[in-house]
Amino acid sequence: MSTIIEKTNKFIMQSYGRNQAELDKGQGASVSGYIDFGSGIGVNSLGFCDKDWVEAVCGQVRTLQHVSNLYYTKPAADFAEKLCAVTGYSNLFFGNSGAEANECAIKLARKYSHDKYGKNRNKIITLNGSFHGRTVATLTATGQPEMHNHFFPFAEGFDYIEPDNTVGLAEKLGDDVCAVMIEYVQGEGGVIPLEQSFVDSLYLICSEKDILVIADEVQTGAGRTGKFTAGEHYGYKADVTTMAKGLFGGLPGGVCLANEKCSKVLTAGTHGSTFGGNPVVAAGGSVVLDKVSDSVFLNEVAAKGDYIRDRLSKLDEVVSISGKGLMLGITLKTKKSPDVVKSALEKGLLVLTAKEKLRLLPPLNIERETLDKGLKILEEILQ
Ligand SMILES: *Cc1c(COP(=O)(O)O)cnc(C)c1O
Repeated sequence: MSTIIEKTNKFIMQSYGRNQAELDKGQGASVSGYIDFGSGIGVNSLGFCDKDWVEAVCGQVRTLQHVSNLYYTKPAADFAEKLCAVTGYSNLFFGNSGAEANECAIKLARKYSHDKYGKNRNKIITLNGSFHGRTVATLTATGQPEMHNHFFPFAEGFDYIEPDNTVGLAEKLGDDVCAVMIEYVQGEGGVIPLEQSFVDSLYLICSEKDILVIADEVQTGAGRTGKFTAGEHYGYKADVTTMAKGLFGGLPGGVCLANEKCSKVLTAGTHGSTFGGNPVVAAGGSVVLDKVSDSVFLNEVAAKGDYIRDRLSKLDEVVSISGKGLMLGITLKTKKSPDVVKSALEKGLLVLTAKEKLRLLPPLNIERETLDKGLKILEEILQ
């Protein structure tokens, strides 16, 4: 066994099932001899070492790497202005991950309700099959009972409903509920988009009852689905939207975006983060925003997604393909997705799974030639 693998297994807690691959150098959609259809789980939206991104990040590291939120910096201000312009939100909070972005959304929703309605209106409804993070609160919010183990007690004030069940929705949205948190397309849960009619009902009931809608766009946001936010596919802008994974192009960051109604809830001292809004992360994020928010770029993401679907749906082994843009889940007829991941690795292709499906999250700017090479490998395996 290599020393890297040995050291990792000895000195890093064994909380992951890792693939047997050491990665040391990447460019575009290729890394250490592999074609990358996973983007580090949807993070490297511009692939490896995009020239403009590297320049912005390195330039910022040489100038000012961190100051804390006790002071002001231009990279954070510029990024926030751009993201609000692109999404139509009023303001944002900077965290360092998807889970932290969702923690902020949960706190914001509870305080919004507490400020306005007082105690006992603090429940947050999430969907079965959802994934919202690994902190105690976001793990509790995650609607997967098999993950609610070991770490007792879990947080109070969460309840769950079945996605696309409009009847269940109306029943659960009582006077003790302050927010509903959804993924428009469940990522870890199996790349499953919500039905339009369910989303319509959800927004209707929530607006009638002043229940906040929180869209967890940690995976779907920043162009992944072929629109800047997945909410645009459905025609909605949630009260609060969180984003993280692809938003900063490979640096750790997350945001919680608030509309006008929710923009003044978190006041001085009510929430914080030492690293949040780090100028290096923000500088990288600004490059991602400049490239990904462009409609030509987004149309190309959607077109590449359609192209992958067309090619793979011709295969007998492929039962169906779910998802939007470059966020795709493939249901296989006879093969097991972990076996396909292993075969792909042996043939030089990195792919992911989501529940029993094979999941593809290639870099958004993947070149057609590289895409073709990766698809050829996948076709050979699935043939
Ligand atoms: C990945 C993910 C998270 C958690 O993000 P971390 O950065 O790992 O904390 C939350 N929600 C969704 C939808 C995700 O895909």
